[in-house]
Amino acid sequence: MKKITILIPAYNEEESLPFLYEKLSSVAFGLSNYEWEFLFINDGSKDNTLEQLQNLRANDKRVNYVDLSRNFGKEIAMLAGFDFATGDCMIILDADLQDPPELIPTMIKYWEEGYDDVYAKRRTREGESFMKKFTSKLYYSVLQKMTSIPIQRDTGDFRLLDRKCIEALKQIRESQRYTKGMFSWIGFNKKELLFDRAPRVAGTTKWNYWKLCNLAIEGITSFTITPLRVASVMGIIVSLIAFTYMFVTVLRTLIWGNPVAGYPSLMAVMLFLGGIQLLFLGIQGEYLGRIFNETKNRPAYFVASINKEKEENLNK
Ligand code: UDP
Ligand code: MG
Repeated sequence: MKKITILIPAYNEEESLPFLYEKLSSVAFGLSNYEWEFLFINDGSKDNTLEQLQNLRANDKRVNYVDLSRNFGKEIAMLAGFDFATGDCMIILDADLQDPPELIPTMIKYWEEGYDDVYAKRRTREGESFMKKFTSKLYYSVLQKMTSIPIQRDTGDFRLLDRKCIEALKQIRESQRYTKGMFSWIGFNKKELLFDRAPRVAGTTKWNYWKLCNLAIEGITSFTITPLRVASVMGIIVSLIAFTYMFVTVLRTLIWGNPVAGYPSLMAVMLFLGGIQLLFLGIQGEYLGRIFNETKNRPAYFVASINKEKEENLNK
């Protein structure tokens, strides 16, 4: 019998878990010719998420949980999930039911047809502000322009991954992760599904603009060095212009002499060059920071506890 792991990263999700568990049970009930694992990664929740998981585990052996030592963020929580999953395939699901479990049977159908990565693409984004939709659209098109690897738009982490993909993702141990880009990067046989994303069932979003902004920069700097290339090209263009201008100025002074003045043009050139230099120093700093973080070579996360049976399986 094939085994399917449902991976759920959970951070302060005590309100959503009962709904989620009920939905998952009914999906698993409808597909009883598979073995199931509901793998919860408790990402340092400050509420009763862990206690709830322990209770669920006590009553249902399909539930496994890994409790991380602190909040590492969803990207790292997913990495922990890749490490601990035991299924022949895995489905990544948000705890807040924004990813409808009703889609799981269809995903599994495509998997059985031989696809390795069945990802769900959002048709609509209910409950999201105009601003979030707009910035997200802009961001994806900028990111896509900078890299030759196809980025899947409007696609979250809700997807089915074959064991092949899980093994591939486990090998990517970057600590500053942009998992969405990795899904594209590893390749394999992909299949798209469309769905309508619902608003969260309970609790509040763990994202804010600051976190999103960080993830966006992560996405670009972990995925492409195009900004560095742009910096070089811009540098060449700007210095060519500056050089020409300098030449013209010298020549003009030699021929007609110099009545001084020229304060505005001087200011303009100085501000322009200063701005460009700061911008590109910043870009280089971004990449330097990434190198710094990766060379420390720390483990991506620490586990505080896992449920008993899971532990025994690991030791085998
Ligand atoms: N999450 C997590 N660690 C975090 C933040 C979020 O594991 O630091 C989980 C969260 O519990 C949920 C999923 O990631 O299962 C998506 O989070 P959220 O719903 O807040 O994001 P949104 O749907 O607004 O993008
Ligand atoms: Mg959500």
